[in-house]
Amino acid sequence: MTGAYLKESFTRLQNLQVLDSEIKTLSAKLEEIPERIRKLKLSAEQVRKQLNTTKEAIIEHKKLYKLAEIELRSAEEKISSYSVQLYSAKTNEQYKAFLKEIEAQKKVKSAVEDRMILLMEEAETLERQRAVSEKEDAQLDADTARKVAALEDEQRELTTAKKEREEARAAIIDSLQSSTLKLYERIRKNRGGVAVVTTKGERCNGCLNPVPAQRMLEIDRLDRIYTCEACGRILVPHRE
Ligand SMILES: [Zn+2]
Repeated sequence: MTGAYLKESFTRLQNLQVLDSEIKTLSAKLEEIPERIRKLKLSAEQVRKQLNTTKEAIIEHKKLYKLAEIELRSAEEKISSYSVQLYSAKTNEQYKAFLKEIEAQKKVKSAVEDRMILLMEEAETLERQRAVSEKEDAQLDADTARKVAALEDEQRELTTAKKEREEARAAIIDSLQSSTLKLYERIRKNRGGVAVVTTKGERCNGCLNPVPAQRMLEIDRLDRIYTCEACGRILVPHRE
């Protein structure tokens, strides 16, 4: 291995490390996007569900109100029918019986009317809720569509950026000696994705353990690959 080749290798290794760190960050961001989209859609669905529940309750109230109207008419018809029969009563008992029936139907009528008022009040509250939910739903629908579109844009940009780096990475790998690449990959795998670090002061910038002064001089010469005695990462000199 010539000195020139080695000096080149250090630059390539450093570039490779930069690319790999960027690929790692880009991949992590890309992985988050489907979940972010799912959550956005989920909260929009929840508002939509609430709106549908309110709409169903309104329909149910209308049904109950119509049934109450039928009950009311029936009671009213009975009252007028008994009132007519009242005059044709032959005995006092019959008369009293019709009166009793009329009173009973009046009570039914009054109870139905109370129920109808309550149903109407509840229906008004539900209508107000529906108006609010409909507004909220439309707003959220627009917001969600906009945010999802933005996330999809981001996804495309990240994918392109990642692909560019992967291509650059492939080019560097082709120019590295296989033993150097193997060393790099092994360290990267065991050291949280970081195989190449600079020295900083007289320390390893990866683990911050001190590097002996003699070793610092050797590293500076770039005549062979030195790894940190503490963390095992490839050390390259720090250049301003
Ligand atoms: Zn170290």
